[in-house]
Formats: sequence, structure tokens, C-alpha cells
Amino acid sequence: QPVTVEVGLGDRAYDILIGSGLLSRAGTEISRRLPGTRAAVITDANVAAAHLDALKDGLEKSDIQPAVITLPPGEKTKSFAHLEEVVDGVLAARLERGDIVIAFGGGVIGDLAGFAAGIVRRGMNFVQIPTSLLAQVDSSVGGKTGINSARGKNLVGVFHQPKLVLADTEVLDTLPIREFRAGYAELAKYGLIDRPAFFAWLEENWARVFAGGPERAQAIAEACRAKADVVARDEFETGDRALLNLGHTFGHALEAATQYGGTRLVHGEGVAIGMALAHRFSSRLNLASPDDAARVEAHLRAVGLPWRMADIPGDLPDAEALLSFIAQDKKVSRGALTFILTRGIGQAFIAKDVPASEVLSFLKESH
Ligand code: NAD
Ligand code: ZN
Repeated sequence: QPVTVEVGLGDRAYDILIGSGLLSRAGTEISRRLPGTRAAVITDANVAAAHLDALKDGLEKSDIQPAVITLPPGEKTKSFAHLEEVVDGVLAARLERGDIVIAFGGGVIGDLAGFAAGIVRRGMNFVQIPTSLLAQVDSSVGGKTGINSARGKNLVGVFHQPKLVLADTEVLDTLPIREFRAGYAELAKYGLIDRPAFFAWLEENWARVFAGGPERAQAIAEACRAKADVVARDEFETGDRALLNLGHTFGHALEAATQYGGTRLVHGEGVAIGMALAHRFSSRLNLASPDDAARVEAHLRAVGLPWRMADIPGDLPDAEALLSFIAQDKKVSRGALTFILTRGIGQAFIAKDVPASEVLSFLKESH
């Protein structure tokens, strides 16, 4: 039996179902909530090769014969050109506003298909069937959709909540191990933000989460509960939702310094190093115990994630350059920065007034 987590958004509330073998029940679960609708499935070539037949079988049991749009895998697919391709494909299939756009893939497909669903006919029904660990614990929940612009990542998009999220934990068995680990960093993040017992549980059980036993579904469900809580409190990120950026300020700077989406550092790896740095930085500022920073570093190391800058292959720009990636413009870099810091495991908070000079000296000593 799958676990159900509800995202409490009033009349837009929706369920996240988490469990093994859910693809075969996709038609049933969709028709129960959105009866009599037609659908388009947006996917990428990797996911289609491994799992599209299983999804189609699951949909056909409920007489859903979807139009399928298969895109190339990778971050570059989150582009205006591919958005146009998806929009055109959905319109060519003559889908109406009440019909469904199904995102079947990782975060790239979820963000792109969700954006298309949000703008075609001023907002179509949207269903997420996330297939990467990152997408199951993070990007498929919460309604942020969008694409990249030449001027930066995720700069163009809309908030558009799905009607249903189906996370089939078995699908993750074909995910490359590096991608699984990267998603795991985001999973552990929820423990570090405000669920210390969950982090302790992961320290004991992470190998079973990787192996795919019932612990995998348990961990994903707990992550979805954590994300659903934050999203229900702060759907449009005017406050608390920023806590989800734990590890992302340092992480994004490292991603930018290694040219985003390359082979040197994938997003979750940047977040892993970023979380370790956020804890170490918090202990340097005497906000948290160094023992907590050491615990985070040890856990990331145990699962095989990078946890310090030295783990990134090749040369990194110097501390000043890294600070400029964080600060983006000089005025900010001379003043104060917003960071997610922590008072210990599971006690993250938003700090709006971190002096750039402190960040710089910390970057120098961590380099
Ligand atoms: P991704 O979609 O590129 O997937 C990673 C790789 O794994 C791809 O090559 C994909 O083809 C492959 N893959 C996916 N599922 C597979 C499976 N079951 N078997 C085999 N291969 C599989 O990347 P991602 O890490 O899932 O997502 C990253 C994206 O998510 C970024 O663009 C990021 O901006 C976005 N994101 C969005 C949010 C949000 O709230 N909307 C949150 C976090 C991240
Ligand atoms: Zn992230």
C-alpha cells in the first residue's frame, strides 16, 4: 500500500502517493481524481527507454491513451525552444483546459512540463510522476515550475500546483548512482532544517534507503511531509520557504564556479558541500557546536557525497571570486548577505544580516 501525504493548500490541496509499483496504478489514481480526462505525457529519452511502457500500461487500464512528447535529457532542455515544443505538442493533441499534462521524469521534465501546463489555455490540470530521487523529494512538490534563460537558471516560470504526485520508488532502481546520491543530499536536508530525529534515522538507515527496501519509501514520505509542511505555510516564498535553501547559497556559488550542469558538480553535490559549509560556518560564528558540523560532514562522506571544496575535481576560483558568485553585485558584497544558518542539527534559521567580510574569511579558510 502506498503512503499518502497531503499538501494542505485549501481547495487546491493534493495528494502525494509514495510506494513501489505505482506506475501500474497511475490510471486508477488519476481517473479517481480527474475522471474522463485525456492526457499528454512529457518525458525524456532516458526515462522513456526505461519506464514509458510501464506507465502506458498503467494508464491504459483506465482507458487513458496519452499523447507522448519525448525530449532530450539534461538541463539544457529547460529552454524556451523546448517549452514551445511542449506547448505545441499539447495543443496539437487537442487537449482542453480540464485535460492533463503529465510530467514523467526528473526535475528538468517536471519544471518544463509544469510551466507548459501553467500557461497553455491559462492553466491545465497537471500531474507529476517524478522519476529521480531529487524530483520525488523536492521538485515535484510545491508548484514551482519554469525554465532557464541565457541570463540565469530558473528565471522564467510560474507557480502552478499539480493535482496529484505519484512517486514510484521502484523506478529509482534505474537511476545512475551519482544522481541518486545527489537527490539524497536534498533528502537529508529536511533532517538538517528542522527534523533532527529524521537525520539521526538516516545516519542509521541510509544504506537501506539506497538499497530500495521499505526504508526508501519511508524516507521519501518523510521528506515529502517536510516539504509539504513548508509549502502549506508559505506557498509563494515570502518567509519560511526560504529554509529549503539550506546549503544552496554556497552550493549555487560552487555550481556557478564550475559552470552549472557540467560533470564536475551536479546540483545535489553542490548542495551537499553547501550544507556542510553552512554548518561549519555556523560553528565558526559560534552559533552551533563544531560537533554538529562534524556529524554532517561524516554522514555526507559515509554515503559517498562530496562534502568539502577539495572534493570538487579541478581548480576552483579564489575566495573573492566565490563571494562574488554569492553576492552577485558589489554593493551587496560589501554589506550584509542572507544565509540559512543553524544552531545545530535540525535547527536551521534564516539569517538576513551576515557580514560579507565573515563569509569571505570563512571561504578563505575552507578553500
Ligand atoms: P534531471 O531531470 O536532469 O534528471 C537527472 C538525470 O537522470 C537525467 O539524465 C534523466 O534523464 C535521468 N533520469 C531521471 N529519472 C531516471 C530513472 N528513473 N532512470 C534512469 N534515468 C533517469 O535532473 P533532476 O536532478 O531530477 O532535477 C534537476 C532539476 O530540478 C533542475 O533543473 C532544478 O532546477 C530543478 N529543481 C526544481 C525544483 C522545484 O521546486 N521546481 C526544486 C529543485 C530542483
Ligand atoms: Zn536544490
